[in-house]
Amino acid sequence: MAIKIGVPRALLYYNFYPAWKAFFNELGAEVVLSPKTNKKIVDDGVSNTVDEACLPVKVFFGHVLNLKEKGVDYIFVPRIVSVEKKRYLCAKFLGLPDLVRASLSDIPPLIDMEIDLYRGYNRMVGRELDRIGRIFTRDRKKIKRAEEAAIIAQSTYEGYLKSGLLPGEALRKIEGAKVAKKPDNGLLRIGLLGHSYNLMDEYVNMNIIKKVEDFGGTLVTADMLKDSDIEYGASCYPKDMFWTYGREMLGAGRYMLDSGTVDGVIIITAFGCGPDSLIKEMVEREYKRRNTVPLLSLTIDEHTGEAGVITRLEAFMDLLRWKEVV
Ligand code: SF4
Repeated sequence: MAIKIGVPRALLYYNFYPAWKAFFNELGAEVVLSPKTNKKIVDDGVSNTVDEACLPVKVFFGHVLNLKEKGVDYIFVPRIVSVEKKRYLCAKFLGLPDLVRASLSDIPPLIDMEIDLYRGYNRMVGRELDRIGRIFTRDRKKIKRAEEAAIIAQSTYEGYLKSGLLPGEALRKIEGAKVAKKPDNGLLRIGLLGHSYNLMDEYVNMNIIKKVEDFGGTLVTADMLKDSDIEYGASCYPKDMFWTYGREMLGAGRYMLDSGTVDGVIIITAFGCGPDSLIKEMVEREYKRRNTVPLLSLTIDEHTGEAGVITRLEAFMDLLRWKEVV
């Protein structure tokens, strides 16, 4: 019987799931994904983490507990240090397996793969993949094949994102579903800024994507922009931002502001996030100073009410439509 690996549908699941799934499947393991976030998952996460944790980490804990109930053999909780050269992720990702072990008892063993591309894709990365691969097989060639399968799956996924699909759509497409890019309705183009896990978790953000589309908006995310657009935006600031996803938000926000390619921008941040409080402030200041593209800033936490989000979104979309007319 195949070893079952539980993967929490939270945090960087939205960025790297295709690679992780391909890697484990190629090693002969079965991947068990936690369900979409729901009230119980959030409540379990909130009551089993330290108060100071940000909302996405609390949600991650809820998903780990859900997988524990599913009786998997291992839970995949990677220690993600860096996903590109010379930049880091926020400290929560670096300590995630330690945080889970320290806070949750009686959980299945963790697969705490360290992902560290700070110095590029070097021999250390290969060694770490080998260490994890050996949980399943002693066959080095099989581990190598798993690594290659992961790289191919990830690059296919990122290609779908660049083509204009949202992560949820791209993930369905990679599983074989027929998914086409939604047509641009030619009305309001809305830039959406935020971490993937805040933008794509429908429960946490109260289905903001569908709401924007229902109000007649076409979404543009950082994933859909060219790398050079984000580089341009990020380079407008005097200091280089060292958090990968913070830099992406900053760069995308600035590009959207300067290029005039969107009618309005929504930035979603999570309560309890240190990096977001800085990035949000920088984006807001620039948009306020220039006063050319309207910005809606939403901070979500476990108590955020849906009615308030709808009211603010509705008013924002009305403002954009009014601006189009005058
Ligand atoms: S970047 Fe913010 S929201 Fe994301 S894990 Fe770190 S503290 Fe939490």
